[in-house]
Amino acid sequence: MKVRPRINRWTISRRNLIFDSSIKSSLVQPHFVVKGENIDQEIKTMPGISRQSVDVLIKTISSDMDLGIKSHMLFAVIDSHDKDANATIASMDDMHLQEAVRKLKDEFGDEIVILTDVCLCTATNHGHCGIIDHNHRIDNDLTIEELCKIAISHAKAGADYVSASDMMDGRIKSIRNALEENGYTSTGIMSYSVKYASSFYGPFRDAADSSPDFGDRNSHQMDFRSGYEEAIMESLEDQKEGADILMIKPAIAYLDVVRKVKDRVHRPVAIYNVSGEYSMLMNSFNEDSRGNAIVEILNSFRRAGADIIVSYHSREVFAKNLLG
Ligand SMILES: [Zn+2]
Repeated sequence: MKVRPRINRWTISRRNLIFDSSIKSSLVQPHFVVKGENIDQEIKTMPGISRQSVDVLIKTISSDMDLGIKSHMLFAVIDSHDKDANATIASMDDMHLQEAVRKLKDEFGDEIVILTDVCLCTATNHGHCGIIDHNHRIDNDLTIEELCKIAISHAKAGADYVSASDMMDGRIKSIRNALEENGYTSTGIMSYSVKYASSFYGPFRDAADSSPDFGDRNSHQMDFRSGYEEAIMESLEDQKEGADILMIKPAIAYLDVVRKVKDRVHRPVAIYNVSGEYSMLMNSFNEDSRGNAIVEILNSFRRAGADIIVSYHSREVFAKNLLG
């Protein structure tokens, strides 16, 4: 398998995100992108986070960049009438997510790190992360073909990292090969290597409108009763297949797993401080007391071994200078 360690060193912003020892440098702010103009819809279950059309998103990210937040993760939210069984729209070059990436790269170049979510669930009309067969099961290998198309389309738009959040077996190897074959040798892959089927994703599914309309995600996301061995195996496998960053999700209830994985892998480890964890904190603290709680949680992520922290709290950390 082709390994390209230079991918994580490609720009100064990537190096700062991954190798700087400060917690601030390791933060990534997630965003939800919708089609249209002048749209800024607040997500009720996630105070302070909204769905934005590309024009509004550019302004939001410009202001984030001014605050010092250089790394941004983009999720597409797709109108229900644009969805189909195979998530066709997700890999179209003129889709709003790809447009956002192109515009952000035009504006900020190497100063920004853009990570794009690669999965089928926001674009399928059944809400599942893959192609469904006649037995209502996800076909692993057909799904990988679509994931590769989406990844290539994001790479073409200029994404720094394509973030495979689907949990299909063997997809990192296929995405790496597809990037190589298409000449995208500086595009990184962030793999959601250890992603548990968790109750803490609830508010995100409101935000991204990606709840499955039948069944659940237990056949591909990991069982939280599984031991460290499975988490380590998944991570080592993705590392071997060519992942540049290994993600563990969710965060707060899985810090023991983060430490175990971190001690076994050679690639940077990311952690996703998910929507349910965010909402829990936002609903339990007032604005004055919240800052200390955020700092305490972020320190626990770093202690557990996270090199990169994806968190909806990032903007508040910078805006209020919580980490000094
Ligand atoms: Zn998905």
